[in-house]
Parts: sequence; C-alpha cells; structure tokens
Amino acid sequence: MSRRSTSPRIGVLALQGDVREHLAALAGAGATPVAVRRRAELEEVDGLIIPGGESTTMSRLLGVFDLYEPLRARLAEGMPAYGSCAGMIMLASEILDTRPDARHLDALDITVRRNAFGRQVESFETDVEIEGITGGHPMRAVFIRAPWVEGAGDGVQVLARVPEGPAEGRIIAVRQGDVLATSFHPEVTGDRRVHEYFVDMVAAKIE
Ligand code: GLN
Repeated sequence: MSRRSTSPRIGVLALQGDVREHLAALAGAGATPVAVRRRAELEEVDGLIIPGGESTTMSRLLGVFDLYEPLRARLAEGMPAYGSCAGMIMLASEILDTRPDARHLDALDITVRRNAFGRQVESFETDVEIEGITGGHPMRAVFIRAPWVEGAGDGVQVLARVPEGPAEGRIIAVRQGDVLATSFHPEVTGDRRVHEYFVDMVAAKIE
C-alpha cells in the first residue's frame, strides 16, 4: 500500500468470533489494527470491523461490555464499518430468523436472513465478482452458516450476488455510504482485496 500516506487505525470488535484473522488481514492491507473491547478503544479508531462469529452471542456481549450504545453512536456519527457474516447481521436494520432479544446496530438499510443457505449447506465456497473490488478477477468466497441479504433499501449499493446454484442471484455484498458488509469471510483466505477496499474507504474519510 505504498500509495497510501497514512495508515488508518482500524479496530476489530473483539468480543467473539474470528478476530485474529481480521487483525492479520488489516495489517496485510496497510492499516494499523486494534482489538476493540472497551469504550476507550472504540473511541480511538478511525473505522471498525465486526467479524464473523455468532450474532446472537455478539449481541449479548455488546450489552455485557457496555459497548452497544457507544457503538451505535459512533456509527450514527459516520464511522466507517465493515461486517463479515455475523458482522453483516449486526449492522443490518432487520434480521430474520434470529432470537427475539437479539440486538442489532441499524447501520445498513438491509434485511438479512440468518443461516439462509440452509442446514444441509453449512458451508461452501464459490468464486464471486465484487463490484469495485475484483475487476474481472473473481475472489474465492467462503460461506459458513452465512446470511444473505433479502431486501435492500434504495440507498444501498449491491456489490455481489451468488453466481450460480440454488441460491443464484442472492445478494451477498453491499455498501451504503461508509458501511460495507459481506455474507462471506474474506479474512480466512489470503486474498486481501476486500480489506484493502475497506482500508481505502477509511483512509478517504480521514484524509
Ligand atoms: N450464523 C451466524 C450468526 O447467526 C453467522 C455465522 C458466521 O459468522 N460465520 O451469527
């Protein structure tokens, strides 16, 4: 990332889930990664990743760690955010097939369905084109009990859809303003393009 003069401080919400993988991917993409467990850490970052994991557990832990309201407030102020899988669920405005007490962050005008690809297909991989990111060189996308986006508001840009198979056409990557989300886990492959895209989003915001 030699073209970038600044190395934005980007947090990974570190309550639960695949935190380490995102921290490593951020470092590889030219950011300064920070694990975020406390309010003071949240206040210091230029952007935040909400990792894959289990959204209902993450929801509960946001309450336990007193981070739910501060995080909502930072998102409302326009802090850039990226959610993968459970992180996408947390950022949504509506969640289907979740627990009645599960909280979410309302940062993306989307309706997501948890575990949407079905019990039989717990996990699978496919190559996807992501608008503005892959440019004709598809990326390996790993889905693990993944959600899909079942509805998206007018302000939401659809960046990727399932290319083939029973779920063909389902929305799996979106962006709305400075908030990005994917159903899949780019942090578990060596391909850093989604993280580089997010680091660029954050850098553009602070420059
Ligand atoms: N199914 C999980 C949830 O509901 C998400 C799975 C994942 O992040 N890999 O939160």
